[in-house]
Amino acid sequence: MKRVSRKRLLSGMQPTQGKLHLGNLEGALRNWVNLQEEYDLFCCVVDWHALTTMIDHSGEIYENSIGVATDYLAAGIDPDRSAIFLQSQVKEHAELYLLFSMCTPLGWLERVPTYKEKRELLTGYADASHGLLGYPVLQAADILLYKPYGVPVGKDQVPHLELTREIGRRFNYLFGNVFPEIQNVLSETPSMMGMDGRKMSKSYDNAIYIADTPDETAMKIMKAFTDPLKIRKDDPGHPEGCAVCDLHTVYNPNYVLALEECRQGLRGCVQNKRECIESVNEALAPIRARRRVLEQDRGHVVDILAAGAEKARAVASETMKEVRIAMGLP
Ligand code: SF4
Repeated sequence: MKRVSRKRLLSGMQPTQGKLHLGNLEGALRNWVNLQEEYDLFCCVVDWHALTTMIDHSGEIYENSIGVATDYLAAGIDPDRSAIFLQSQVKEHAELYLLFSMCTPLGWLERVPTYKEKRELLTGYADASHGLLGYPVLQAADILLYKPYGVPVGKDQVPHLELTREIGRRFNYLFGNVFPEIQNVLSETPSMMGMDGRKMSKSYDNAIYIADTPDETAMKIMKAFTDPLKIRKDDPGHPEGCAVCDLHTVYNPNYVLALEECRQGLRGCVQNKRECIESVNEALAPIRARRRVLEQDRGHVVDILAAGAEKARAVASETMKEVRIAMGLP
């Protein structure tokens, strides 16, 4: 029987930590797991990107990458269907990055808002490196190397892909049609609030991690930011902007009732937090159980990454042949 070829998608995360948080899980990973049904998914751990902010801890990046790959697998990315691999194990990423950097105008990169933001956050000798400025070029190489149909994105990430398209178009204009116009594969994924009420992020130290134990999760939720105007149980609450409410909406099937009771002063924050802890731990239990098994067999994760890199290289090397021919660089 003839195998029907499926459209390819490319996605990736940085290993700035060796574990992913619930924002990563609910905002992206669960969606990737579903997309495997329909698409040929390439899940990259973009370890070279982590160097833009971790140059003084570069020795931690490999172990972090294993941790991120472990979370991919625990969440349900299936290595028999999808390629899971490290960016640094497919050297073609670096070659395409170099060639793209020769045809990307400097002004395009200097105008990227995240460059300015990240530059302000950095301290130490990584400050404002050439690599940080060139980050979007490497990102374009990471994606276009696989000539994918598209990239899974939430609405807020759509502008980030535009520069990748611009770089692909410019290459095509200069050297002929090599790269496809990549599509936004949009999803309605929630953006999770951290335990202090800001966006969940490793850098704010406000995240619940997939790898956290149920007790660690409980401790974080018990200390979470809630409505400051709700002092007593019978004070009417304002769940919007409450970190616990945010978790309820994702993990508690009866969240509408819980929030209504908060509004009417029929429910206190302690009760709400206890129920929330139960829902979150229950929902994460199967993923955490798979993660624990994988942690005991690190060699298996390393083997999966090697097989994923091989699959990725097969596609990447074909693209690079086309690129070199198009540029007249045999
Ligand atoms: S009752 Fe629940 S939703 Fe309302 S403020 Fe307290 S923790 Fe937040």
